[in-house]
Amino acid sequence: MCYNIKKYVKKQTKNRKDIFTAMANKILIETSARHVHVTAETLEILFGKGHTLTNKKDLSQPGQFACEEKVTVKGPKGALKASILGPTRPADQVELSLTDARTIGVVAPVRESGDIAGSGSCILEGPCGSVEVKEGVIAAKRHIHMTPADAAELGVSDKEIVCVKLDTARPLVFGDVVVRVSEKFALAMHIDTDESNAACAFGEVYGSIVK
Ligand SMILES: [Zn+2]
Repeated sequence: MCYNIKKYVKKQTKNRKDIFTAMANKILIETSARHVHVTAETLEILFGKGHTLTNKKDLSQPGQFACEEKVTVKGPKGALKASILGPTRPADQVELSLTDARTIGVVAPVRESGDIAGSGSCILEGPCGSVEVKEGVIAAKRHIHMTPADAAELGVSDKEIVCVKLDTARPLVFGDVVVRVSEKFALAMHIDTDESNAACAFGEVYGSIVK
C-alpha cells in the first residue's frame, strides 16, 4: 500500500516538482559564478561582426543559458575571466563577487539585476576587441526566482524582502533576500560565490524562508 502511494505521488509530481517543493518551503539554492550579460552590439565588438552566442548549458531559469564565449573583465588592479550568459540584453552587466571586485580593483555595489545606474565600471576584452563598460558592474543582490504559484504557496509576494536559512554543513541565515515573481521564472535562490563559500553551499543545497 505504502509503496503504491509513493509511486502515485511520484507520478503526480513528475511535472509539478516546483509547486510541491514550494509547499514544503524547500528552495533550491544555486551559486552564480561571476558572469557577464552583453548587448548584441558589445558581443559584435568583442567577438566579431555577426557573432551570435553559443549555448553551452541551459540554466534553471527558462530561456537563460551559459555560453561557450568567455571574456576578460579588467580593472585597475587586475583581470579575471568570466563567462557570458545568454541571451543578449539591452544593457551590458557584469556580476562579480565582492572578492572578485576587490581583486581587480573595481567598485561593485550590491544591486538587483538591471539596476545599474551609477554602478561600477570596467573594461571587457574579447578576441576581436574591447568595450568600456561605464556602468553595469554589480554584486548581485541575493534573490529568489519564483512563479506566482510558488509565491502563493510560500506566502510571499514580488519584491518582498525575506530571510532564507540554508540547510548545509555550515548553516547560514541570509537576510535581505529579494523575492522576484514571474511566470517566466522557476523556483531557485541565487547567491554568489562569496555567499556560497560562507555557507558551505556545495552540491545540491536547499534553503527555507524564515520569518
Ligand atoms: Zn537569478
